[in-house]
Amino acid sequence: MHSKLPHIGTTIFTVMSKLAEDEGAINLSQGFPGFGADSELLELVGKYTLKGYNQYPPMAGILGLRLKLAEKTQLTQGYFPDPEREVTIVSGATEALFAAASAVVRKGDEVIVLEPAYDSYEPAITLNGGKPIYVPLNEQDFSPDWERIKKAITDKTRAIFVNSPHNPSGYVWTKSDLDELAQVIRGREIFVISDEVYEHITFDGKKHHSIGYHPELREKTFVCGSFGKTFHVTGWKIGYCIAPPEMTTEFRKIHQYLTFTTVTPMQYALAEYLEKPDRYLSIPDFYQKKRDLFNSGLSQTDFQFRSSAGSFFQLVNYGHLSKMPDRELATRMTKELKVACIPVSVFYSDKKDNQVLRFCFAKEESELLEALDRLKDLN
Ligand code: PMP
Ligand code: GLN
Repeated sequence: MHSKLPHIGTTIFTVMSKLAEDEGAINLSQGFPGFGADSELLELVGKYTLKGYNQYPPMAGILGLRLKLAEKTQLTQGYFPDPEREVTIVSGATEALFAAASAVVRKGDEVIVLEPAYDSYEPAITLNGGKPIYVPLNEQDFSPDWERIKKAITDKTRAIFVNSPHNPSGYVWTKSDLDELAQVIRGREIFVISDEVYEHITFDGKKHHSIGYHPELREKTFVCGSFGKTFHVTGWKIGYCIAPPEMTTEFRKIHQYLTFTTVTPMQYALAEYLEKPDRYLSIPDFYQKKRDLFNSGLSQTDFQFRSSAGSFFQLVNYGHLSKMPDRELATRMTKELKVACIPVSVFYSDKKDNQVLRFCFAKEESELLEALDRLKDLN
């Protein structure tokens, strides 16, 4: 059969999680929490399921959840998106990103992707007839390289994917990054597809600035988020897209034929759960403890690293220890040390191997400590 995506195989996240399971390894590869969600949230799902909230909800999501999300956005980002015309509930950020790309990318359009980049962006562009234009982030700290971004823009540029807090590096965009982006695309019809799934996971007092926070950028941006990431329920596959009315209209045309709508009882449960802001305002502290514990253990190993500023990932360099390609090392570590991680070359279009690995620290303390103990044996 002729493949529309000949260069694409099974995602590394699935591959490494399977290998970890087969090898009985501690799985610090695929990004998902190794602990349960708040029992109050789970009980709410039970409550709404038993109450009979099990049929199709409205196509754009239940209004109650859209309203609570708008209130959360007001509280954390200082603007209130219109729940009726600017907020759509979708089946995970993956759907939001794909639907946003489908809404704007036309045949022959160019779309800027800052790399290293999450793997779902590229197929969302190419399946819609677009061409990804890769621009490397600054090597030192993974901040955007504005000179290179400016040079990459042409008359064909239709959109740019951005991601903050960034997977895999943890870089958190500053307000001046937002201003730079606004300036770079000013006066052009370039849309921003902003992946903000780690919006509530930032460290050391750093604040996440949504691209929607910037009044000028807001007019051109699809903000894509994930309740799964925020509330430790990645398997629920529930997220959202916030965009101006005209863009939301186009977005919903895609959403209604991709998935039509999103699982009902979870929407009611999340709407009620969001009533207490503490439930998301406490997340940075919760994850900071895990990052600090993991990194204090990492400093006892031979890896080199710069502490992650956001997301639940930590990158480490091992080039001074071994010249082994990262994929090979990740496989070897899973089989021999029984700790699985992600080789970061998969986040680059040319699979460039910088001898960097990614660990997910969204795990129970005991699991992190055991993994760190095993990592000391790397040589
Ligand atoms: N974007 C990034 C950067 C991610 O790490 C992930 C992984 N969950 C997603 C999007 C997808 O989110 P969801 O599970 O809500 O589809
Ligand atoms: N976003 C997760 C990660 O980066 C994986 C999600 C997935 O497996 N699709 O590990």
